[in-house]
Amino acid sequence: MILVTGATGPLGKAVVEFLLKKTPAVNIAALVRDPAKAEDLKAQGVDIRQGDYNDYASLVKAFTSIDKLYLVSGNDLPNRAAQQASVVRAAKQAGVKHILYTSFQRKNETASSPISFVSLSHLSTEKAIKESGLTYTILKHTLYADIIPLFIGDKVLETGVIFQPAGEGQVTYATRSDMAEAAANILTGEGHENKVYEIAGNQAVSYAEIAKIISEITGKSINYVSPTPEVFKEELTKAGVPDMYIGLFSGFSEGVRQGEFDVTNPTLGTLLGRQPTSVKEYLQTIYS
Ligand code: NAP
Repeated sequence: MILVTGATGPLGKAVVEFLLKKTPAVNIAALVRDPAKAEDLKAQGVDIRQGDYNDYASLVKAFTSIDKLYLVSGNDLPNRAAQQASVVRAAKQAGVKHILYTSFQRKNETASSPISFVSLSHLSTEKAIKESGLTYTILKHTLYADIIPLFIGDKVLETGVIFQPAGEGQVTYATRSDMAEAAANILTGEGHENKVYEIAGNQAVSYAEIAKIISEITGKSINYVSPTPEVFKEELTKAGVPDMYIGLFSGFSEGVRQGEFDVTNPTLGTLLGRQPTSVKEYLQTIYS
């Protein structure tokens, strides 16, 4: 029996949907905080189990009779390391055999990383998993291609400008859907025990290249401007963007500038048995 956490979020839900194409629903369970949000999965025969990363007893109960657990990293960044350590302990106590974890690509593993606010909790979770003695598969996810529209903003076609302090940094984006399909293939396949996989696309692109692609798709002239981090923060503050988001966008852009997500690796294509969706193909679904 396979259990997918975060199954009412886009990634976990997509994993369950790919699993449903590969194995009978009777083999699939989903951990959700709010079962009302999982009625569609329940209707397809998925075993819906209520639980919260903050509630240890709920996790042990939900993980009963589960062989493989797909742990979707949480989004409560300050509490994530402790929450996920609790998930790993509960998995061990409940007798889970194999845990897959959606970790993150990075080069700098120290607190000086511009994305330490996300990377340190991923690192501590990887450590907890390895120390637990559970069989594991660590999926080092690159940035989702799906976040490009979020980062460049919904007014990009009006302003004609992508404004991010990322310099010439490149990212090997992959779509969330491809990552989910690859995960379903691992969960229903064999030979993935105690492996660490780089889950990335096969072409690194910069914001300048993204601007060119969107220009080609839309016929509108889009230019990339890379301000200094200070000017970026000033402009976002003037536009009324909350400090928390300014910190997040600044950190990720600096990570991009430093090449944290510039890792080209064939693993995703191998897991999919085809080429991963390219950034251009993904952006066509959004802007054409
Ligand atoms: P998402 O929309 O933030 O979904 C997160 C999922 O985790 C939701 O289903 C949420 O449950 C669940 N969750 C959060 N806190 C929980 C808790 N305390 N107990 C149980 N479940 C909890 O994100 P997503 O797009 O599906 O992506 C999954 C994860 O990937 C994110 O959480 C984040 O860590 C990471 N991420 C990666 C990238 C990237 O570019 N690589 C981008 C964004 C996010 P509810 O449905 O109840 O809210």
